[in-house]
Amino acid sequence: MKTVIYPGSFDPLTNGHVDVLERALALFDKVIITIAVNPAKQPLFTVEERLSMIREATSSLGNVAVDHFSGLVVDYAREQGACGIIRGLRALSDFEVEYQMALMNRDMEPDITTVFLMPHDRYTYLNSSMIREVASYGRDVSGFVPPIVSEYLKRKYSGD
Ligand code: ADP
Repeated sequence: MKTVIYPGSFDPLTNGHVDVLERALALFDKVIITIAVNPAKQPLFTVEERLSMIREATSSLGNVAVDHFSGLVVDYAREQGACGIIRGLRALSDFEVEYQMALMNRDMEPDITTVFLMPHDRYTYLNSSMIREVASYGRDVSGFVPPIVSEYLKRKYSGD
């Protein structure tokens, strides 16, 4: 059974993340989509909010587990018995930092392979920070995120 992890901030989950997740599911037996908890970052959504959004948005997909972790991604991958780490590559701008991380991770854990997947062209410009910004001005982002995320954003920015 080939398990991979898909780590990220997912603050919040976008249709680009879901696209990459679906591609990973077509290749591997199980994907653990996992929130990297970074104490240095101040996220818009709590870990619990992000977990429940991801659970809801992925409930119709089989073989997905939803989790969170802190610490090194390779340590978490090992604990889960994963053979790989999924990362999405949108544009050249993602490449340099992803390349450095992948090589550092391979140096630490040679048996865990980083796999880069490219989303559909329509998602290549999409990122969570742009979604947060556009939604904060009351604009509709429902074309870019799963319905549950759209609801959470509306609630967050209407102050409820
Ligand atoms: P991080 O803070 O680790 O970059 P993100 O939540 O921004 O976490 O992204 C998690 C992973 O998903 C990263 O590999 C990122 O490149 C990828 N990703 C983010 N947005 C998209 C998108 N629109 N299309 C494809 N991959 C994406």
